[in-house]
Amino acid sequence: MKDCIFCKIVRNEIPSYTVYEDDIVKAFLDISQGTPGHTLVIPKKHIANIFDYDEELASEVFARIPKIARAVKASNPDIKGMNILNNNGQVAYQSVFHSHFHLIPRYTNNDDFKMIFKDNSKKYSPNQLKAIQESIEKHIGD
Ligand code: AMP
Ligand code: ZN
Repeated sequence: MKDCIFCKIVRNEIPSYTVYEDDIVKAFLDISQGTPGHTLVIPKKHIANIFDYDEELASEVFARIPKIARAVKASNPDIKGMNILNNNGQVAYQSVFHSHFHLIPRYTNNDDFKMIFKDNSKKYSPNQLKAIQESIEKHIGD
């Protein structure tokens, strides 16, 4: 992909603070540094989002994430945890359409990263949950 910013980073056409790379992935500092050490892991092959992975590429990319996460964590004794985040589609806050995984080190509950999960459990009956379950289940393997 000629104009993709992350493909340009893969080809070293634009600079990055790379922390790890091999034939499958490249990991580099997210320029926004949401928290210190915020790192992106991307497949070198251009794919837009999670919906486009085949099993082989998924297993190759996901297999590398824990060792990169461990290295980020080991880089700073103040890192107490980590959120790993993957945005897919504009509605889900994806802004670069080359698949990537955010490794966001966490220092305190009150650092610069926030996530909100609303608890809507009281709005759903068992029948509604069953209907949702079945509508997803029937598409596994499409
Ligand atoms: P997302 O919003 O999930 O698509 O995340 C895209 C991320 O890419 C943002 O957090 C940006 O800060 C980051 N980003 C964009 N351009 C660069 C770049 N040249 N080097 C490093 N990170 C970048
Ligand atoms: Zn790309």
